[in-house]
Amino acid sequence: MRLADIPRVALAHLPTPLEYLPRLSEFLGGPRIYIKRDDQTGLALGGNKVRKLEFLVADALEQGCDTLVTTGGPQSNHARQTAAAAAKLGLACHLVLPKLVPIATHEYENSGNVLLDRLLGASVEMPAAADFSAATIEWALASLRGQGRRPYSIPIGGSTAVGALGYVAALHELFEQANAQSLSIDAIVVATGSAGTHAGILAGLFQTGSSIPLHGFAVSATTADKVKLVGSLAGQVCERLEIPAADLAARIQVDDAFVGPGYGIPTDAMREAVNQTARFEGLLLDPVYTGKAMAGLFAAVRRGQFTGGQNVVFWHTGGAPGLFAYEAELTTSV
Ligand SMILES: *Cc1c(COP(=O)(O)O)cnc(C)c1O
Repeated sequence: MRLADIPRVALAHLPTPLEYLPRLSEFLGGPRIYIKRDDQTGLALGGNKVRKLEFLVADALEQGCDTLVTTGGPQSNHARQTAAAAAKLGLACHLVLPKLVPIATHEYENSGNVLLDRLLGASVEMPAAADFSAATIEWALASLRGQGRRPYSIPIGGSTAVGALGYVAALHELFEQANAQSLSIDAIVVATGSAGTHAGILAGLFQTGSSIPLHGFAVSATTADKVKLVGSLAGQVCERLEIPAADLAARIQVDDAFVGPGYGIPTDAMREAVNQTARFEGLLLDPVYTGKAMAGLFAAVRRGQFTGGQNVVFWHTGGAPGLFAYEAELTTSV
């Protein structure tokens, strides 16, 4: 099947800018660092999930659903973007946000993305971590059906073979921009969470026959877990789009050295990356995903993994609304 033949609802402001970061590049003293601004996808403060939702919501509408249901941590950017997509299309939205991150400040549980979820009209349920299991979502779905609703369940991060299609399209968009700028890309860096972004970009690289390395920095779990996730999703996407993906496993690179103590838990390397990127470029990263992935890029440059003449694209996947939830954790100076 061709990507262009798969149903898609326009939600994002595209193309997002591809920009050079001269001051950050100079500060690090290595390759030229470019940034793909998917923090600017436009819908309710943007982020990478908007691209996935263009395909997921089209699927929901095709199935005649009237309510989007999804899950994630309390500060899920994906939940916020899902709530916004629902609002824009006149659908209801129910969010199940278990307290999976051991931060219990007032801001964490009420500000940032949670505030926006509520403003966007979603109903929010925040079970204690101990009370949450896969069955929690099933109960929510059953309860909505009992009320005569037709729920569409989107897994965590929107990372299904449908959602990941958004990033196949995104890779094509990046290549068009790079061509227009006569930019030859030597590496792409991305945060790897539920892995739909990483998997979609990788499938796009196979589709274009590109051998540009894609470096994922895990924001949770381990390299082994992420490699499995990326492989499974990218495999499904390639099958659907009939893309030959010879040696898929060999193309998957994920580094879990920057996760720190766990998902959503701040690290000093994240604080440094968020602070320096803000101060050198006036650019906001986030504490959970892009801050840790940028910390990984800082470290890679410092150990000489990239040379001065190379062009590295950091894929900004959004998340800045989460900064407000981490006020206490981010005002510690580095
Ligand atoms: C969800 C998210 C990611 C990770 O994307 P996945 O497709 O889940 O791997 C990265 N950055 C931000 C800001 C996110 O919200």
